[in-house]
Amino acid sequence: MGIMSPSRITKKVGVFGGTFDPIHIGHVSVARAVFDAFDLDQVLFVVTADQWLRENPPLASASDRFKMVELALGNIPEFVASNIDIVRDGSTYTVDTLRDLHELFGDSVEFFLIVGADSAASMDRWKSAGQIARLAMIIAVGRPGQRFDAELFDESHPASGAAYFEGPMIDVSATLVRSRLRAGRSVSDLISETVAQYIETTALYR
Ligand code: ATP
Repeated sequence: MGIMSPSRITKKVGVFGGTFDPIHIGHVSVARAVFDAFDLDQVLFVVTADQWLRENPPLASASDRFKMVELALGNIPEFVASNIDIVRDGSTYTVDTLRDLHELFGDSVEFFLIVGADSAASMDRWKSAGQIARLAMIIAVGRPGQRFDAELFDESHPASGAAYFEGPMIDVSATLVRSRLRAGRSVSDLISETVAQYIETTALYR
């Protein structure tokens, strides 16, 4: 490198965790808006593991949910499906995700944790919540029906230091997708064609 010192931060990576049961246009639109607004180089869609002990476990298996994320992101090179939480044993905790990613990517990467306003508000109940804000910049993204104001939170709450970004405000949830599928109604306005085909052939969510 001669006398020039290498620049420290070379890459800005978004970390978007979720059950993605299934991935829908709200997820992809949020990632796109944050990617553009924060000038990111990449967004990782980190799929949660199977968590049978959780109160409302995902309906589809981790491998089906991961496959659907891959299908939805197939033609978008800057968005990448990550199985880092699936291959780690046990329940998924964001603090573990971020620690593993720091180890994998090294110090030259800056992480941006993307969370919907509903998830951000409950972050004080997350494992090692105080650590999370040290491992990534938290971006709380607006979600219809979810008011978010970082100033409402006590300073010990991880979301008190979050950047609020209103984003595209798309009123879609995986719950809505699943209930439409159960009712035999169309979801073509809510999920990608490739994901719809996967759900059809695997008979998920019936
Ligand atoms: P479910 O309806 O099953 O609870 P979901 O649609 O909220 O699912 P998740 O996979 O739980 O989807 O969400 C992953 C992340 O994406 C969370 O941080 C959540 O807040 C955020 N998110 C999901 N949908 C939207 C949306 N339409 N607008 C903003 N954020 C969203």
